[in-house]
Amino acid sequence: MRRRDLLGGLLAAPWWASELYAQATRGLPPLKITDVKVIGVSPRPHYSWVFIKVLTNEPGLYGLGSANNRYLAWAAKAALEKHMRPFWIGKDPDRIEDLWQSNHVRSYWRNGPITNVIQAALDSALWDIKGKRANMPVYQLLGGKAREAVPLYAHAGGPTFDACVESARSWMEKGFRHVRVQMGGYGGGGFIPPGEGSRPETGFSGKAFDEETYLDTIPKLFRHLRDKLGWQVKLLHDVHEHLTGWGALELAKRFEPVRMFFVEDILPPEQIDYYKQIRGLTTTPMAMGELFTHPHEWRPLIANRLIDFFRGRVGMIGGITQAKKIAALCEQFGVRTAFQEGGENDPINQLIAYHVDLTIPSFGIQEENDFPEEVHEMMPGAARIRGGYLYGSDKPGLGIDLNEQIAAKYPLVDDHRNADWTTVRGMDGSVVRP
Ligand code: MG
Repeated sequence: MRRRDLLGGLLAAPWWASELYAQATRGLPPLKITDVKVIGVSPRPHYSWVFIKVLTNEPGLYGLGSANNRYLAWAAKAALEKHMRPFWIGKDPDRIEDLWQSNHVRSYWRNGPITNVIQAALDSALWDIKGKRANMPVYQLLGGKAREAVPLYAHAGGPTFDACVESARSWMEKGFRHVRVQMGGYGGGGFIPPGEGSRPETGFSGKAFDEETYLDTIPKLFRHLRDKLGWQVKLLHDVHEHLTGWGALELAKRFEPVRMFFVEDILPPEQIDYYKQIRGLTTTPMAMGELFTHPHEWRPLIANRLIDFFRGRVGMIGGITQAKKIAALCEQFGVRTAFQEGGENDPINQLIAYHVDLTIPSFGIQEENDFPEEVHEMMPGAARIRGGYLYGSDKPGLGIDLNEQIAAKYPLVDDHRNADWTTVRGMDGSVVRP
């Protein structure tokens, strides 16, 4: 009988589980990491996914993780292959906290967008392994369910006010209670069309962001949404950092009459000190942190109760181990979580957020991300969305697998055209923070 099968039965009763675990593993060789496979896949042009498969000396036992950084995928892949794989081989996968800490200082400089996703990849794989050994989904190991499923907010949008209404309504009809609405892409509603307006004689003539135009358009859009959709739906909007400090204050005030569920990233991470002024001026709820990588960014905002939702991506802040600690910090200060799991993110990262979400009292909402069928075929057990909620597979560990034969059909690519969306410009051609 394989050790895992034996343990599966024994670990059903938690209070004596550790003693039984010790008995069951006595005399067996200690568990070790024997290899780390790094697998880059791009099932769609905007997906640049780097997964790891952490193999152990127990036949058939492995864990999956994701080092997702769509903009620096090759750097993450090389760091895993050249730097981390040799460091991890031979280590004990049971020691998740210890490995998190030693991994954190392994690169000396830390809390960056490559080091953090590497942290998360290993952390996810170790939780996956521990869950498989215990024959339990990871959320059971994190304390068990604090809610039945994970509510999501949907992404609605369109080029006109009425298109936005129709888009939001279609999500509400699918069961979503929370709907984010954008007027087209990020900053939409604030753009002067290409070639229009007063342009410099040489150079830039593309679509140009104009702060005052945005501040005029977006609150009107949300008044229109309230008129057409009523007050039951919870409305969200993502500013995606386009504003100055003044613009952020002005927009937050103008949003008050439409009662937002939250307004996201109204400022870039470099200007978070403005949240003190925003908090003093308005009751509009603030979500912040999609681009956060460092505790010095989130800690003062949470500890001073200057935001309402912490919005970090679980894979970008260091994985389940780190997310649980931040969620506990949020709980102490009455802040809620809204983990960023949309766009180019992947099913493993979605699931690590899911397992944390199920167990934390500080949970607020999670971002929707629905993957095409070829991704589900490649990754059996990927979470599914039904009626506005996210459901994992309930299989042991993270509950997901990676079919390497199918993955080989989608070699990793970096589509530079797709990455250009982060460069937004003003009328004079200067860069606006995306
Ligand atoms: Mg965002």
